[in-house]
Order: sequence, then C-alpha cells, then structure tokens
Amino acid sequence: MNLQCTQCNSDNVTSLSVLFDQGTTHVQTKSTSVGVGLGSNGSVGIGGATGTTHGTHQNVSAQKAAPPSPKNVAGWIGTTILAALPVLGIFEGTLKGFISGLIFGVITYFCIKKVRSLIEYNKTEFPLEYARWQRSFSCMRCGNVFEFSR
Ligand SMILES: [Zn+2]
Repeated sequence: MNLQCTQCNSDNVTSLSVLFDQGTTHVQTKSTSVGVGLGSNGSVGIGGATGTTHGTHQNVSAQKAAPPSPKNVAGWIGTTILAALPVLGIFEGTLKGFISGLIFGVITYFCIKKVRSLIEYNKTEFPLEYARWQRSFSCMRCGNVFEFSR
C-alpha cells in the first residue's frame, strides 16, 4: 500500500481512526463537593459528597479526526412525547385546551417528521459517512485530509 498525501506527496500520513484513538484518553476524576446549609433556627450544617466522573478527553487532533456520530434519535423521541402530551387538552372540552392542543399537535407533527428524518439519516447517510471516515487519512506534514480508495 503506497499512501501519499494528495497535496504535498508526503508519505507521512496517518489514518483518522488511528489519530482519534491516540488522541483520546479515558479519564476518571474524583471530585469532592461541599455544601453548606443554613438551618431555619440559625444553625449551620455542612455536608460533603464525593463523586467519580468518567469521561474522555480528546486533544485537538483527535477532535479534528473524530468519527461522525449517529443522530440523537432518543432525545427527539422524548421531545416528541413531551410535545404530544398537551395535545390531550383537545379532549378537555374547553376552548383553551382545544387551541393549545392544536398548537402542540402541530409541534408534535414536526417532531415526528424530525425523528423520521433522523432515523433515515442513521440508516442511510451515517454508514456512508462512517465508511468515508474509516478510509480518510491526514497528512502529518501539511495537515491535508484526504480519502484513500484502494
Ligand atoms: Zn501533505
């Protein structure tokens, strides 16, 4: 395999997936939080809590080399459900309930359209973009990012 930058012909190139892996570190931090509360009788209470945070840290080149991620469908489904609930106001029998039900009905309609388009993206576009990312390389000399097709 003879990989060369399409811009400067340097062979010092690295795939985006390798760059991403190398630049991503998994971190675990312990945090301590202290809360001070003032009681109604003037007493002062102090409470402490320790928590562990898991996360990932990415350096700049890893951020640039990050793979495409699928769209957040679950979040939009939650929004749709929240928007759909006031629609039940239509059955309330009041004009106010009817009008707000209609308004939220329209919002729900657009939320459902959004969810459907996100699902469609994850099914068709996302695999293509991910595949494109998998065969993309970054030049270590000039920074050019290019696709390599065998
Ligand atoms: Zn180059």
